[in-house]
Amino acid sequence: MIPNNREDEMLSRFAVQNRSDHERYFDEEPDPYRTSFQRDRDRLIHSKAFRRLGYKTQVFVNSEGDNYRTRLTHSLEVAQIARGVSAALGLNRDYAESIGLAHDLGHTPFGHAGEGELHTLMENHGGFEHNCQSLRIVTLLESRYTNFNGLNLTRLMLRGMMKHGCAGRCALEHLKDLCEDPFAKFWPLEAAIVDASDQIAYLHHDLEDGLDSGYLTFDELFELNVWSDAYARAEQGEREKFTSLRPPHRLRFLLRHMINDSVRNLIETTSSSFDALGLNIEDPAFPSQGERDYPVRFSSETKEKLISLRSFLFQRLYRHPAVMKMSRRGERIIARLFAEYIRSPEILPAHVQNRIGDYGLHRVVADYISGMTDRFAWKEYSYLAGDTELL
Ligand code: MG
Repeated sequence: MIPNNREDEMLSRFAVQNRSDHERYFDEEPDPYRTSFQRDRDRLIHSKAFRRLGYKTQVFVNSEGDNYRTRLTHSLEVAQIARGVSAALGLNRDYAESIGLAHDLGHTPFGHAGEGELHTLMENHGGFEHNCQSLRIVTLLESRYTNFNGLNLTRLMLRGMMKHGCAGRCALEHLKDLCEDPFAKFWPLEAAIVDASDQIAYLHHDLEDGLDSGYLTFDELFELNVWSDAYARAEQGEREKFTSLRPPHRLRFLLRHMINDSVRNLIETTSSSFDALGLNIEDPAFPSQGERDYPVRFSSETKEKLISLRSFLFQRLYRHPAVMKMSRRGERIIARLFAEYIRSPEILPAHVQNRIGDYGLHRVVADYISGMTDRFAWKEYSYLAGDTELL
């Protein structure tokens, strides 16, 4: 019996199908009430790595304010958008949701600055990259079960998480057979939906957090075509309502519409490319991601808008002096911790030291530091630096 198989009747031929016995690295009895992907999702939500996302930087360090996005709220937003888009397209919603929840698990503390620093420190030891690290977490580092490391997610789930194939910058030797699997050529469309949903979520939400922080101003947004277009349309469309709104509400109103426009565009553009594609997803001629006919995509107009939003955020927010200052501090903390643990592995917790024999000191230190929350990394740094004022 396949639990919840009514949903399957609505799945398109491009969807990953639901079963309760999708293959896992370690055999397990199927669950009588949950499909394989529902079970994957539940395991992710109950993992420690998932809970730690609540105290990891998205753009603003967790200690800067309680209303900003964290990696946890971002992951929930991505999962929610991906689930809705997948449902509209007849793709597998539980599968997409699970990939969305897992997609940022491997992020270091202090956002991309932390990741960049850790990669530099690991340059001669295989490097570091967050997508790759997400796979290490769910296959090796989570420890909840007695007979295996990791969460024993379905192979399809791991495949969906492999954003950059197996060429990521970290150690995934244990997944070699998955990388060589003939299925590895096909990146499930649900994974591409998560990727597109991630772009929609972070671009609009960073814009909102940037404005809330005061680093971006309402006025400078009018330099951005996406914004002035949305503003002009809102004034025309619902003149009474929009113009009577106070500025903070105008902002939410516009952001909501901009997100909605992008989501609808993704659904509609992808849906018409489905109609035009005569191929099944298993067909070797099915276009690969990045090729022109790849069906999961935005229209060129929406894509342009998202690109302009991204470059605006890069110039004005991600490189804002105050954000750069947070980044520098994060890099310092990570570099100091890395040096201390490499010099004195005996100060690492016992369960971390136990892995040195299998993966080597550098990889184990990278695993440990990347798993830290912002506040734990900062506390550990302050302690080691002997700076009790920071504690
Ligand atoms: Mg993300």
